[in-house]
Amino acid sequence: MREGEYFKPGDKVVRSGIYNVTHGGGHMPDHPVTCMFGKHFPKCDDCDDAARFTLISYAKDVDSEPCFKLAIGKQASSPAP
Ligand SMILES: [Zn+2]
Repeated sequence: MREGEYFKPGDKVVRSGIYNVTHGGGHMPDHPVTCMFGKHFPKCDDCDDAARFTLISYAKDVDSEPCFKLAIGKQASSPAP
């Protein structure tokens, strides 16, 4: 990912992680959100598609991390407590 790259509402999330949101018109301060791979960046209820998302920290989905696959599979096959 390039430095200073941002995403707009409607863009597809290509990396799960924590993103900083900058709102249009400064109606609220910047704040972090988590966005998950495969979803789309949402519109803001207030500034609509003026919101901008910049990646703060990339975080891989735990389900797609090979070292957790076995444990997740065991949880899925065991009966609920
Ligand atoms: Zn907004």
